[in-house]
Amino acid sequence: MEVIEGSSVILFFIDGLGIGDDDPQNPLARFSGMEPLAYFKGRPAEPYLDGVMKPTDPRLGVDGRPQSASGQTAILTGVNAPQRLGYHKQGFPNGELREIISENSIFLRLSAAGVGPAVFANAYTPGFFTEPQRWKSATTCAVEAAGLPFRKLPDLIGRKALFHDFTNQSLRERGFDVPLFSPAGAAAVLADFSRRCRFTLYEYFITDKIGHAQDFTAAGIHLPPLAEFIRETLKLIDLEKTTFILTSDHGNIEDLSVRNHTLNDVPTVIWGRGKMETAARIADLTDIAPAIIDLLTK
Ligand SMILES: [Zn+2]
Repeated sequence: MEVIEGSSVILFFIDGLGIGDDDPQNPLARFSGMEPLAYFKGRPAEPYLDGVMKPTDPRLGVDGRPQSASGQTAILTGVNAPQRLGYHKQGFPNGELREIISENSIFLRLSAAGVGPAVFANAYTPGFFTEPQRWKSATTCAVEAAGLPFRKLPDLIGRKALFHDFTNQSLRERGFDVPLFSPAGAAAVLADFSRRCRFTLYEYFITDKIGHAQDFTAAGIHLPPLAEFIRETLKLIDLEKTTFILTSDHGNIEDLSVRNHTLNDVPTVIWGRGKMETAARIADLTDIAPAIIDLLTK
């Protein structure tokens, strides 16, 4: 892809990252090197590199614990998906959520507005293309809604894609012949997207798995490199032209005393172009997609 003219947005989605208490059950409080992932209730946020943090409501007026399928649908469409369903939907989108996504996906709306390229930076393993998909994530549905291509392992090897485990460690353990990426190496790949694509989505979900497993050891292993990956990306992108938005679908990893998702707000953190105006309009998960579309069309 060619270098683009004009502005760009990176949406860095982290599954299961909430704003928790500053106590030992919170790995974001227990471990060091957590900037810019760690935000605490009742404490002013001072994000890394002058980012702006907006506590964001993932509950969306619906009882129960916020869940991934409906929360991610809200982020990727701007539609209050839990309210449409009447409940928070776990895991993967059902038919009703897939319909919302197929009509309102941010990728589809950007394409309709003539904004592109818009890409999902995550690479898929060969099995995704050869085996029938019983379960599709909200992100996969959002990309399919616009008929966009998926990235594959050759893209990853060519440093034109990232695995959800951006180090590629888990792929190597599964026997795939791919290079190990450092956080700075992964950041170079993600930053390159910001120069070639108007909109880039990246998804990371090990955080949610760690939360369900209540695994402090895994939190100590995975969170510091994730934080470093984001810091390094922010150093490499042109914040005059690019807006970097970090958000999550619900809380989880910020309280390892419970196996479930939390009811906490999630942090939406915005760096770069238009950060103040964007932060000012974000109150819940449905505000993110329209804000991105406005950043890229107005
Ligand atoms: Zn979960």
